[in-house]
Amino acid sequence: MEKKDFLYQGKAKCIYKTDDPDVFLVEYRDDATAYNGAKKGTITGKGSLNNQISTYFFELLQNKGIPTHYVEYTGLNEMLVKSLDIIAVEVVVRNIAAGSLARRLGMEEGTVLPGPVVEYYYKSDELGDPLINDDHIKIAGLASKDEMQYIKETALKINDILIQDLNAKNLDLVDYKLEFGRHKSEILLGDEISPDTCRFWDKDTREKLDKDRFRRDMGSVEDAYIEVRRRLTGK
Ligand code: UDP
Repeated sequence: MEKKDFLYQGKAKCIYKTDDPDVFLVEYRDDATAYNGAKKGTITGKGSLNNQISTYFFELLQNKGIPTHYVEYTGLNEMLVKSLDIIAVEVVVRNIAAGSLARRLGMEEGTVLPGPVVEYYYKSDELGDPLINDDHIKIAGLASKDEMQYIKETALKINDILIQDLNAKNLDLVDYKLEFGRHKSEILLGDEISPDTCRFWDKDTREKLDKDRFRRDMGSVEDAYIEVRRRLTGK
């Protein structure tokens, strides 16, 4: 598959067209941002680590019957994906209180939640990704009721699959963000699943193995991503 015109640059990935109009090429970069782009930096090796970690998760989910945009791993920093019309709703699933949930509800970070919490954020840099609900999604025309029902059910299925897999790797899945998009008549899981978009904690020590190390200037960011890849893939 030939890499063709550049299509779009996000905060950590570039998207290119290919010779198949239904397939895009995603290039994962080392750039890191936090706090809606206010903090910027580079994490050496992050692009290829996130590509390999996302490949691991997309293959796991596809094998369990979750439709995703993932097509093929094509190189250290590159994967092929199905083209998506992205739904502008960021779906956050939480199992343990951290980040904005801990702040919003005044909960201590690390409190295990009685069951998974699903939240929606409007994917809009200008508005700073505000928290929204089903009614907001409806009035803004972001997705239909049926689409949101499918998305919530699928997010909870994904949660069960990921928790079970990560448990065996001695990792807690604290929270994470998913994006979905439309491809022909289907809704597919898109974007990436990586330490940039998930919080992973070591089950025993609760050591943070994710982008919080960058957000909070904790150091050893690259080592944490390498450790996640090692636990997932053995490499
Ligand atoms: N998240 C993300 N992109 C965003 C916002 C959040 O990938 O634009 C992920 C984040 O890494 C965490 C989860 O979603 O795993 C919940 O993030 P939270 O709302 O706690 O925001 P934070 O306090 O990290 O800004």
